[in-house]
Amino acid sequence: MALIVQKYGGSSVSDAESIKRVAKRIVDARRAGDDVVVAVSAMGDTTDELLDLAARVSPIPAPRELDMLLSSGERISMALLAMAIHSMGFEARSYTGMQAGMLTTADHGAARIVDVTPTRVREALDEGAIVIVAGFQGFNTDTRDITTLGRGGSDTTAVALAAALGADVCEIYSDVEGVFTADPRVVPRARKLHTVGSEEMLELAANGAKVLYIRAVEYARRHGVMIHARSSFSTGPGTFVLGPGMTAPQGAEGEEMEEPIVAGVATDLSQAKITIIGVPDVPGKAAEIFKIIAKSGANVDMIVQNVSVAGTGRTEISFTLPKSDASTALRALAAEQGDVGFENLVHDDQIGKLSVVGAGMRSHSGVSATLFEALSTAGVNIEMISTSEIRISVVVRGDDLAEAARVVHTAYGLDGDIEAVVHAGTGR
Ligand code: ADP
Ligand code: ASP
Ligand code: MG
Repeated sequence: MALIVQKYGGSSVSDAESIKRVAKRIVDARRAGDDVVVAVSAMGDTTDELLDLAARVSPIPAPRELDMLLSSGERISMALLAMAIHSMGFEARSYTGMQAGMLTTADHGAARIVDVTPTRVREALDEGAIVIVAGFQGFNTDTRDITTLGRGGSDTTAVALAAALGADVCEIYSDVEGVFTADPRVVPRARKLHTVGSEEMLELAANGAKVLYIRAVEYARRHGVMIHARSSFSTGPGTFVLGPGMTAPQGAEGEEMEEPIVAGVATDLSQAKITIIGVPDVPGKAAEIFKIIAKSGANVDMIVQNVSVAGTGRTEISFTLPKSDASTALRALAAEQGDVGFENLVHDDQIGKLSVVGAGMRSHSGVSATLFEALSTAGVNIEMISTSEIRISVVVRGDDLAEAARVVHTAYGLDGDIEAVVHAGTGR
């Protein structure tokens, strides 16, 4: 008998019918003889709707109260799912993150799991029940407050439970068949990957592939949990995310191209660009500027500094950051304009980031040339470039991003023969 942890995302439980459909899948797994623990997300776009509601009553909602509000979404879905399972004649018990022992740091909206003490989960399993745990939420023992793990965080709940319970596999179900070579909503010719290395998956997730949440992939890699990303709308195998030393189970399809240099293309419309104009070109200015931004709490991603404009002794620094951090960073910079001595700030929230990811880049040359060539042929202008060992990212106009992703996907020979299926969801 195996112990399986399953996670169902919002798009898989968007209404009563879907909840019954998911309940049936869970019951089928139980019938097959396995112990089943389920992490569930809030129904459909509930979390976004709750955020919209909060914004209507307060311009800057208190983080503690926001977590109280958002954690209610998963309480609704977990209880309904347990009820649906009961009506099929099976025993199921739902638990909040706190009841399931998800202990986190105190950072509201971005808490990290520090320990999992699933005593009640184990007891319920021992008594033969199916266990449903509210995803995305935890509890801090110092503040004694409810926390949430960041958007997409139910994936981490599932992986952390799988690690703590020593589960055989962590199945993460969503509205696509697995991890594709690109977001199938953007690139219809994207192909499903049968396996993906956790290192490549981390880069894809960090750069916009929200099919798996980055912290869940990190957690799985650290704790040796095998993730199987698959669709709750079909029964075929999905994508196995392989950490160091892991191999895909026997029987997994294997028509993989041999050792592709590029695993996939990720797209991200969630960033903004700030350009600081007329920065005195003297030592220490970058340090001053990025200290101010760090203090504002903004997470800087790409940075570019131009050469000095001839004769003026001044330069320009551009950087990207999450759109949601931009106004705080701009305010912090403006407040120090006199001390730093720059001339002007320009805010641009119409950018898109395209990233090409592949472990094979380490040992192959010419990968970036293919990217630049494809973008140039498509007439897409590159505004910024950054690279890591296994990734190249470029910033382009947001309007150009989808087209850029399609031509780059084709240029690396990633296109499949058939259009990818997206089963549900609004992609919000
Ligand atoms: P859930 O609500 O189940 O957590 P998400 O919406 O978070 O699901 O993630 C699934 C979505 O991720 C897909 O509908 C797809 O649009 C998007 N996505 C982005 N990049 C990829 C990729 N490389 N492979 C598959 N899906 C991707
Ligand atoms: N409901 C949360 C969100 O929408 C967590 C999750 O779905 O993973 O971000
Ligand atoms: Mg998700």
